[in-house]
Amino acid sequence: MKSKPPPDPSLAIGVAGPSLRLLPALSAGQGSLRVAVLAPPWIPVPPPGYGGIEAVVDLLCEALIDRGHEVTLFAAPGSRSAARVRTPLEAAHPDAIGSSLYESDHVACAWEEVDLAAKQGRAFDVVHDHSGFTALAMADRVPAPVVHTVHGPFDENTEQFYQRHGHKARLVAISRSQVASTPPGVSVTDVVPNPIAVDRWPLRVHKQDYLLWIGRMDPIKGAHRAIEAARLAGRTLVLAGPVQTGQESYYRERVQPHVDGLRVQHIGEVGGTAKQELFANATALLMPIRWREPFGMVMVEALACGTPVIAFPEGAAAEIVIDGENGQLVADETAMARAIERVGSIDPARCRASVAERYDVSVTAAGYEDVYRRAIATDRIRQASRAAEKVPERRQLSASPPGAR
Ligand code: UDP
Repeated sequence: MKSKPPPDPSLAIGVAGPSLRLLPALSAGQGSLRVAVLAPPWIPVPPPGYGGIEAVVDLLCEALIDRGHEVTLFAAPGSRSAARVRTPLEAAHPDAIGSSLYESDHVACAWEEVDLAAKQGRAFDVVHDHSGFTALAMADRVPAPVVHTVHGPFDENTEQFYQRHGHKARLVAISRSQVASTPPGVSVTDVVPNPIAVDRWPLRVHKQDYLLWIGRMDPIKGAHRAIEAARLAGRTLVLAGPVQTGQESYYRERVQPHVDGLRVQHIGEVGGTAKQELFANATALLMPIRWREPFGMVMVEALACGTPVIAFPEGAAAEIVIDGENGQLVADETAMARAIERVGSIDPARCRASVAERYDVSVTAAGYEDVYRRAIATDRIRQASRAAEKVPERRQLSASPPGAR
């Protein structure tokens, strides 16, 4: 089992082992905030099926409104929320995830509305960006402090981007493991894990005889490794998830040949109650990932249903899974097969509790509220010092003799 990193006191909110640590609220009792939340333009909020970020945004908007804040959500068309919903584009783009055409259009339209609100005297106090890269690159062009949740990994592809533009917003990581991979020169001061509304997921104590793998058909997510582990254990495996653009050849070569409709079933993309039942009835969720996954909603969803998670100890899996308590951390497919035999000893109620105490939306929304207030306070200090710098300049000008230019 991988040892857990020691708590870092510089983090405002952090996952220290199994419990979430919150610093005392900076400004508890302060009034309601006007928050603009920027979702990506690809998939509506809430997501009809696949869509981790959209599910996070959905829950967070609702919880912020419950906490008395005024929230405007910029999202893909088809979105529904308790927040005021703005949909700058004409259509959602689930098959064009990452397209700069749609992302820049979406962000620029949102920025115009944030600008307009300020000009009309109803400025947003803070903008919370979940949308990708464009908004962060342009975060210093908007008249409100920006909080940017880093949903993707820090890696060789994104390192220079964050080094150049990271200072333009307050960066929030979604796991301690993600903070550990922050590139040099980039500052991440807060960790707020992704939320789940635990009470909306069914707890099931008696399980059916199948293992579950659910996610994108990307090799890093390891559907082919789950197939191997299930085969070694002699158990039935259900695979759920879409084959997205670019994943066709992996699916065709590494996954599809093993799908026989009996021992290995692929049921495609699932959503709603069917997805919840799939999580709740499974003997265990297999998570044979080979990447530094920044969070991993499917693990938290399985645990909320009382379903143990057997994972490789990569990225946040080593934080979410508490070895021997709510699942097991294993090195490879062979160890995963052995762990499947032992998984019946894990208590479903403990699985659910391990999520409720760390990731329930009530906990994480309070965390974000605290981050917003810190971002606003820092922004005010910055503005005050800029104003102070301008005073001597003005004095100098007025002290110059007339016609000195
Ligand atoms: N998901 C879904 N239907 C599917 C496959 C996945 O609704 O067929 C959801 C899953 O429940 C989770 C999200 O998509 O909420 C995936 O998020 P995760 O953080 O696990 O993975 P990533 O964001 O890296 O794809």
